[in-house]
Amino acid sequence: MVITNIRKITYSRSHYYHICNHLIPFQLITIFAARKTNKMPKKVAYISLGCKLNFSETSWIVQQFENAGYERADNESQADVTVIDTCTVTELANKKSRQAIHKILNRNPETILIAIGCYTQLKPDEVAAIQGVDYIFGSDNKMDLTDTIGNLQKQPKPVISVSNESRIFEPIYSFGDRTRSFFKVQDGCDYFCAYCTIPHARGRSRSNTVARTVEVAREAVARGIREIILTGVNIGDFGRANGENLYQLLLELERIDGLKRLRISSIEPNLLTDQIIEHVVESKVIMPHFHIPLQCGTDRLLTLMHRRYTTEFYAKRIELIKSLIPDACIAADVIVGVPTESESDFDDACRFVRSLPLSYLHVFPYSERANTLAVKMQMVPNEIRKHRSQQMIAMGAEMTKVFIDSQIGKIRPVLFEGEHASGEMCGFTDNYIKVKVQTNQNLVNQICKVELLQPLGGDEMRGRII
Ligand code: SF4
Repeated sequence: MVITNIRKITYSRSHYYHICNHLIPFQLITIFAARKTNKMPKKVAYISLGCKLNFSETSWIVQQFENAGYERADNESQADVTVIDTCTVTELANKKSRQAIHKILNRNPETILIAIGCYTQLKPDEVAAIQGVDYIFGSDNKMDLTDTIGNLQKQPKPVISVSNESRIFEPIYSFGDRTRSFFKVQDGCDYFCAYCTIPHARGRSRSNTVARTVEVAREAVARGIREIILTGVNIGDFGRANGENLYQLLLELERIDGLKRLRISSIEPNLLTDQIIEHVVESKVIMPHFHIPLQCGTDRLLTLMHRRYTTEFYAKRIELIKSLIPDACIAADVIVGVPTESESDFDDACRFVRSLPLSYLHVFPYSERANTLAVKMQMVPNEIRKHRSQQMIAMGAEMTKVFIDSQIGKIRPVLFEGEHASGEMCGFTDNYIKVKVQTNQNLVNQICKVELLQPLGGDEMRGRII
């Protein structure tokens, strides 16, 4: 998946990018702000690449600017200052991060350019080598940006602030850009899967207490948020250092007055407990929507990649969900062409995946990452990775069609988010189908019962309000 365009605060499931256990919308989000001063107002543009974790952090930075008196600006080329939040999930993500920086500087060479995020954490020298970059902040250091912004100026060479120390974790949430809020409850990962560089970029797993996390969620809901999507690198690991867990957090979050919807988003199969699944069945707040990374479809490759479950275990998770919640949406990530994957491994993986009642597949060809175990193993040629990726994507499209067709005639609650270019209102069902309806009413931020009438291709359906 590649960055294909620049959009203002837009979101599309088709732009999700997955390489690790968490859901990653690989997209470009641009947020503009302008600072009011007594002299010339300073204008600031923000660009967030990569995952929703980055998006929640970028949105938080925007909130800090706004709290300090900044306003959103009209367009990117006018920005006196540009902040770009980078991604390093694959080699392609590194390249896209560099390209985005070059693009900004080509359009606006005078802008004070601040590069932050996972790519700058792992490769500060590569970013520093780009002529025109003024400041570089690492993954955690980026949260200090607002302390620095009052004194920003063009630099003869980049000022670099990148450290490997993880600090006390503080929950944060995106606000003001969508009906939904991405709520960061956890960061980092201790798993070190053989192909993954995220533990190097994001550090060890950490979170705050249930009490503090719920306090921050209450604040978000009091500001009008109706749907929260829990976000983190490995959210199933929430609370481990405090003797708490994700199940306890879910119980407390769903008690918040005014919170209508809660999505777990992505969770490792071995951390998705029966207790959580059974609770989703009863909950009126937690949505029947799961994202459970599979990554490899054979036991040999799961073991080789240091994943912590077998195909049998994974299949049982899916079966349990579907037996309890037949209409649940279940998405899975699959990496094809991991080192040593043979033709017969791939055939076995296809058979296994096809046997599962999954709603969406997010498929990615393996990408070599420095300082991982997998990069020292025997590589599958790029052409084969690409071909297998196309085959798996085609299979995923068939599975999505089966899921969408199974929903025709069903009545589901839809939270409306905005108006489509066609003039229709659009929103998402509880089981995460994008729905368009014809109506004269402005239903933004309202939940209505909708009959699902007709597939519109991909993951969209037309419906009518009942
Ligand atoms: S190391 Fe952590 S972040 Fe990376 S794939 Fe494994 S569980 Fe996901």
